[in-house]
Amino acid sequence: MPRVLTARFMHETNTFSRVRTDLGEWRKRDFHRDNEIPAAFRGTRSALGAGFEAADKYGWTLIHPISANANPSGTVTDDAFEHIGGAILAAARDQGPIDGVLLHLHGAMVVESHEDGEGELLARLRAVLGPDTPIVVTLDLHANVTQAMADHASALIAFRSYPHIDMYERSWQGAELLERAMKGEIKPKTVIARRPMLYGLDWGRTQRGPMAELIARGEALESAGEVLAVSICAGFPLADIRDVGPTVTVTVDGNAAKGQLIAEEFMDHAWATRDFTTVNMLTVAEAVARCRETGDKPLVVADFTDNPGGGGYGDATAFLKGLVDAGIENVAFHAICDPEAVAAGMKSGIGPATLTLGGKIDPALGGGPLTLSGEITHLTDGRFIAYGPMGGGVERNYGPSLVFRVGGIDIILISNNGQATDLAQFTSLGIDPTRYATVAVKSMQHFRAAFEPIAREVILVHTGALCQVDYNPENFKRVRRPIWPIDESV
Ligand SMILES: [Zn+2]
Repeated sequence: MPRVLTARFMHETNTFSRVRTDLGEWRKRDFHRDNEIPAAFRGTRSALGAGFEAADKYGWTLIHPISANANPSGTVTDDAFEHIGGAILAAARDQGPIDGVLLHLHGAMVVESHEDGEGELLARLRAVLGPDTPIVVTLDLHANVTQAMADHASALIAFRSYPHIDMYERSWQGAELLERAMKGEIKPKTVIARRPMLYGLDWGRTQRGPMAELIARGEALESAGEVLAVSICAGFPLADIRDVGPTVTVTVDGNAAKGQLIAEEFMDHAWATRDFTTVNMLTVAEAVARCRETGDKPLVVADFTDNPGGGGYGDATAFLKGLVDAGIENVAFHAICDPEAVAAGMKSGIGPATLTLGGKIDPALGGGPLTLSGEITHLTDGRFIAYGPMGGGVERNYGPSLVFRVGGIDIILISNNGQATDLAQFTSLGIDPTRYATVAVKSMQHFRAAFEPIAREVILVHTGALCQVDYNPENFKRVRRPIWPIDESV
């Protein structure tokens, strides 16, 4: 029976964040070791869930040392990287022989000592396993893919949907490739192309535009048997690292030159369309004005710039303040991440309370702390099973959480940061979001999978929080130059 090493080690690093990502940040979100992993993921529509199904189908013995996924935040500490990466490398060394690897990485991890966290991990893994063991890696489509990642992985398979609702399918695609490679039917090799661009492909939006066009063309090449896999990554621009930006990788069976031609041609299209955008953000005042309207379904308002899924602190108060000041009612607000305010609320318990919430990590961004009087109506431990479509069936943990009703606004306060992607983030706190005139969330795009179906309309608001990208050269000291849009003449 083939022995397959599988693991999940994911982080999207916003190098502009003040929050250091130490091991504690991983442990409070999603951190499972060894025998905890089947119980948490078997039977779920997740990347690891697909791996268990593939193992059953192909008769693999799975070695699964660790699954760790921290919320996007600042630079990862060396200690956390060595701890989690070390568990994967130790399994490769000590639980062999390993016939193949199916690894689930993000692709935009920056570690204190390694700008390219995934490239470093894959280089070390390749050194342990030697040149011939197939290593198949799934990636987030916001990966900043590097030459080292392409060189040390046999195949790279990025998500094709933003919101990311295809982790299960991509993992299955990787498992099929891995099975063929272990049988000796194919010898996958991956090549990469990039352009001098820090940003592009509409930050990965897959509904329409260049990202959707290139994904469709890549899938056509896969179906025709021309290549094994084509992955389009939009990159993650909130990272001051040399290799930031969009990439195309092509995984071929042998013929690297042909793959390189395809990758270059695809990147020409990404370059030509670099200005394309579907994002239209309203000011706080404009968004608040829209919340006076009513309809048969909620208006969903997303704070684009305080997206916890992009490293935002999740504690921006500017939009909430706008709603309170304007006396807007019938609003469900997710969320302010503020462990101190939650602790104070837990202490006072159900009933009237005055809390100071949000704006504490960097008061200069997205509005400072807000002191409000209201009523605490619900208290929970913040754990529940997600409905999906993103990660349905998997447990989430937002830490101690509560509902604070201020006027006509039900404000959810959480202790572990995370963007709104699932209706259970409301219903687990006794709030039915479909019954409100306005539902406020913090997210750039992922919220759409669950919240667009309940919305009469979706709008985006700009609160001046951390996830606005400011292409001032002062902010990007390590990026390769020249690069668009920092340098006009590239
Ligand atoms: Zn992503």
